[in-house]
Amino acid sequence: MKNRNEWIEHLLEVDKKHIWHPFTQMKEWVEKEEIIIIERGEGCYLYDVYGRKFLDGVSSLWVNVHGHRKKEIDEAIKKQLDKIAHSTLLGLANVPSIELAERLIKITPDNLTKIFYSDNGSTAVEIGLKIAYQYFQQTGRPQKKKIISFVNAYHGDTIGSVSVGGIDLFHQIYRPLLFETIKIPYPYCYRCPYGKSPDTCNMECLTEAKKIISEHREDAAAIIIEPIMQGAAGMIKSPPGFLRGIYEAAKENDILLIVDEVATGFGRTGKMFAVEHENVKPDIMAVAKGISGGYLPIAATLTTDEIYMGFWADYAEKKTFFHGHTYTGNPLAAAAAIASIDLFEKEKVIENLQPKIRHLEKKLEEFRELPHVGDIRQAGFMVGIELVRDKRTKEEYPYGDRISHQVIVRARKYGIIIRPLGDVIVLMPPLCISIEELDFLLDGVYRSIKEVTEEYERRKG
Ligand SMILES: *Cc1c(COP(=O)(O)O)cnc(C)c1O
Repeated sequence: MKNRNEWIEHLLEVDKKHIWHPFTQMKEWVEKEEIIIIERGEGCYLYDVYGRKFLDGVSSLWVNVHGHRKKEIDEAIKKQLDKIAHSTLLGLANVPSIELAERLIKITPDNLTKIFYSDNGSTAVEIGLKIAYQYFQQTGRPQKKKIISFVNAYHGDTIGSVSVGGIDLFHQIYRPLLFETIKIPYPYCYRCPYGKSPDTCNMECLTEAKKIISEHREDAAAIIIEPIMQGAAGMIKSPPGFLRGIYEAAKENDILLIVDEVATGFGRTGKMFAVEHENVKPDIMAVAKGISGGYLPIAATLTTDEIYMGFWADYAEKKTFFHGHTYTGNPLAAAAAIASIDLFEKEKVIENLQPKIRHLEKKLEEFRELPHVGDIRQAGFMVGIELVRDKRTKEEYPYGDRISHQVIVRARKYGIIIRPLGDVIVLMPPLCISIEELDFLLDGVYRSIKEVTEEYERRKG
């Protein structure tokens, strides 16, 4: 048996030798980064192999809700484990997936009554796209084939979800492999493509989007949107009325609305789902990330009776939805999700979140004084702090300088783990975070931004 330090050295060596990390330039990872190996968690904290403690400032990539090692979820999984870990939904049903369906139907918009399970956000989105497409093929309007998606959108990393994506840095290289979509503008108010400011804005983006939507009345099957907040694009928040406007335009033009609540769902924006902010009833909704409280991979695509009935036929008619993933409806993951959803009610999570959201909003105001904070965008517990080289001209930092990466590395010194998007510092703490912990997070991030941006200017002279 090796001693602990040897064991850690060994882990580091194997990681560098064999693991290809997601969204990571491996040359930087292997040659330059100080690699932190997480060993355990507790509440809002992560502990690495050296026992160092870090606040989990982005909820382990936007998934954790009630904290790590949450007793109720731990126990639900253990209880399920004593029965069975996995059985298939292809040709069989299982207890937890049924009990989870009942809960999901209760908490989602009331027109959504059917649930198709999968295991991650990308597949949940693809299922939505395929259902929308096949629905029109089978209900007498086969010319409705196109998908409308937004500039800067992110819906996942599989080829179908990348097709509806709009982030050039991630998606451009795959263009030849993708199906074509119709792109419409999403409001990026800080860098308004129409050159407007909040006082001169007439929602030109919505007008443009509506125009394009109506032009595709005959040939579009669906519009897919990240409601209220585009996440991976850098926390880009749409102004009030935008989501509602898209919803109405979709309805008027007989185009299905798919909302991707993968990031925004399960309380993240201050309501259980972001569509509730503007009373939108989507035809299809994809959920994943927060569904199991951040414990296990499970996802769901919800839809209406009407769409479901588009697939309802005698077997020989070949209207079946021929789609399914091996771990679809996994009992362990479903058990975690049930426990997590029950906690929302038991611990009044959404209600208790409201004062924390207001506190966060107030404290974030202080960041505006920093000379390199260009914009702060917040929807509930989703926050993006956009760093700029020059506040007046909104000049960006040179891409290779990785200013935001420097900030998040500095934040580790203050006991905080966060991960940026471009030059946007993202804060997305677990919903269970306390006011004191929130202050700890904000203070550390404030100092990190201040120090790193000041040092950068000193170096550049
Ligand atoms: C993360 C994310 C996805 C993809 O989910 P995965 O589980 O990573 O496949 C899709 N849509 C949105 C809005 C997301 O934030």
